[in-house]
This record gives sequence, structure tokens and C-alpha cells, in this order.
Amino acid sequence: MDFDQRILVTGGAGFIGSAVVRKLVSDTAAQVANVDVLTYAGNPDSLSAVADSDRYRFYRVDICDSQALDEIFAEFRPTAVMHLAAESHVDRSIDGPAEFIQTNIVGTYSLLESARRYWARLVDDEKAGFRFHHISTDEVYGDLEDDTALFTETTPYAPSSPYSASKASSDHLVRAWQRTYGFPVLITNCSNNYGPFHFPEKLIPHVILNALHGKPIPVYGDGSQIRDWLYVEDHARALIRVLNNGVIGETYNIGGHNEKRNIEVVETICSLLEELAPLKPEGVVHYRDLITFVTDRPGHDARYAIDASKMQRELDWAPEETFETGIRKTVSWYLNNTAWWQRVLSGAYQLGRLGESAAPSKFKGDE
Ligand code: NAD
Repeated sequence: MDFDQRILVTGGAGFIGSAVVRKLVSDTAAQVANVDVLTYAGNPDSLSAVADSDRYRFYRVDICDSQALDEIFAEFRPTAVMHLAAESHVDRSIDGPAEFIQTNIVGTYSLLESARRYWARLVDDEKAGFRFHHISTDEVYGDLEDDTALFTETTPYAPSSPYSASKASSDHLVRAWQRTYGFPVLITNCSNNYGPFHFPEKLIPHVILNALHGKPIPVYGDGSQIRDWLYVEDHARALIRVLNNGVIGETYNIGGHNEKRNIEVVETICSLLEELAPLKPEGVVHYRDLITFVTDRPGHDARYAIDASKMQRELDWAPEETFETGIRKTVSWYLNNTAWWQRVLSGAYQLGRLGESAAPSKFKGDE
């Protein structure tokens, strides 16, 4: 990696963004600026490992705020943007789509425009080296009915939920900025991630924490929905690989080659907990007895599966974790990091934000 890299990461206090920030600071010499407004999903605790690094800085800014973004671009002078800030939870998008339209579509537009204004003024070498990497999801492709089909980079878009429709819109904007303005973009579409620091509303941490508390483990419908699971650190490694070696204007699908039915995922977690947390909450004989089938989510996609062969072929990337190794690491992480999730469950992770001045004044570390 280039020693003069200055990477502006949006959404760096979220699940995947924090993994990217931690990896950039620990494995590269890059300067990293994290632009995150800290919604409920943004957790500064997830960045405590990098908080004291002099190569890390934090801006509490909404990506819809063009003026603040312009000031950050002028001050930080990034060589690249990795755009992860988004509203990301499908259930929330069904209950209240407005924030998804605002952040995922309008926010991406405003970030694209600030980045393009900045890029247009760069001198030759800096201009040629600049990259805007947009991080997206395989959910833009809709779902697969055929048991053997895979999403490739040319699969037509057919999003099903307000979340995936808003992400699809943002992908179209990014692609159009490349075609129309010659703006140097990269797009990645990834399958479901799991791993440490995952917000407890998402399936895997939700199952682990409900089981540990002896609460019912809700499974949508009959649990037959198939997802392709990728360990978050494999995703972060893939994203850095694409940023450094991807070809401008190209899309790369990133996946784990780990297709599992939701019910299989839940049962695997219950078995691991039997082994790793044998001391159960009162009244619980087997963790799997807590599994409860609930009414399916409207528009629930049946199957997602990614063909990640382009990443392997062109960028020599493959996941290091299998589902079996990754899920074991994940369950162990939740068992060993109770303070992190207790502060999420109690809401304490959000304390200390009141009274902060709005950016672009910068906050060092995890504030
Ligand atoms: P997340 O919800 O955990 O984190 C999102 C982060 O963005 C939070 O820190 C939040 O505070 C921040 N944010 C939200 N709105 C903002 C705004 N208006 N301005 C500035 N910051 C804002 O999400 P995640 O799971 O880490 O996903 C990151 C990206 O990766 C998203 O773009 C998502 O669509 C994509 N993705 C996620 C998955 C997955 O399985 N989680 C899979 C594929 C792609």
C-alpha cells in the first residue's frame, strides 16, 4: 500500500466500517478519517483499538451535509473514499423508509458531489490516483428461485425491500457519475456479513444474545431462507484489495461461498453455545428449545448466493474463514466481550454524545 494514502471512510463507526478502519490502521500505513454521524448503529466503542492512533481522526458529520463534507475534503485531502455509511437494517426500512431514502440515496449523491468537486481540482497525479469506492450489497439483485443460480456482476437489479431499493439507487448514481463525469469509482456488492462488533438487531448476534438471556430466539417463517455468509474481516480485506487493485468503473461481487438456511445458522449457534457456554440461564435445558418461529417478513427474499469468482480471478482474493471457523470465532467473541454488548443493550454506548459540537470540528479517537 502507498505510504501517502489518506482514506476517508464513511460509516466507520458501524459494523463493517469499523472493521475496515481497524484493519487500515493496523495493517497499513494509511491516514484514516472516519466520517460518521453516529446513528443508533454507530458505536465509538468499536473503534477503541484505533482511538489513540495518530493516523486516525473522526468527524461527526452527516453525509447529507454538503458544506461540512466540502470542508472535510479540503482539510483532510483524501486520496480515496470508502463509502459505507448507510441505513442498513431491512426491518427498519419496512417500518420507516424515509431515512433510507435520505441517507442511502440523497447522502450518496451529496458525497459524490463533494468528492467530485474536490477531485476536479486535484493536479494530474493526484487526480489519476483518486478513487471513490462505493460499498453495496447483493440484495440489489433481488432473490434467486433456482437452487443453483448465483448473482454475478451482470445480474440485473431487482431489489425487493426499501433498503435494497435505496442501495440499488445509490449504485446507479455512482455508476452514472463514472459514465457521465469520468469520476473514478469502484463498486462492490457483498453478501451477508457476520462477526465481532455486529449490532444485536441483526440475526446472528440477536440469536447469541437472546440465547444467553434465556429469551425466545425468533426465526422468520420456517427459517428456510438461504443467505451466503461472509466473515466481516474477510470483507474488510476484500475491500482494501479492491481499493488498491480494482479497475476503475468495475463492479466486484464479494461472497463467502457459505450458503446456509437461516435455521441452520440458528441451530449451529445453539450447538456452539452448548459447548462454549454450558452454564445456561435458569429454566433452559437446551438452547435450541428457545427457537420460536414467527410470521415471515413481508417481501422476504428466499435465497441470495454470490458468485465471487471475479474477485478470485482478477484480484486474487478468497475468504480465509469458512462458516464453521468464522461462526465459532464470532460466538466466542460475544462470550468474551460482554462489556461491548452490555453497553449496546443498555444504551450506554450512545452516552457522551450530547453537547458535542457539530462537525467539521474533529474529534480524536473514539471520543
Ligand atoms: P451499520 O448499520 O452497522 O453502520 C452504518 C454506519 O453508517 C453507522 O456507523 C451509522 O452511524 C453511519 N451512518 C448512517 N447514516 C449516516 C449519515 N447520514 N451520515 C453519516 N453516517 C451515517 O452498517 P454495516 O452493516 O456496517 O454496513 C455498511 C455498508 O455495507 C452499508 O452500506 C451496507 O449497505 C453495506 N453492506 C452491509 C452488509 C451486511 O451484512 N451488514 C452486507 C453487504 C453490504
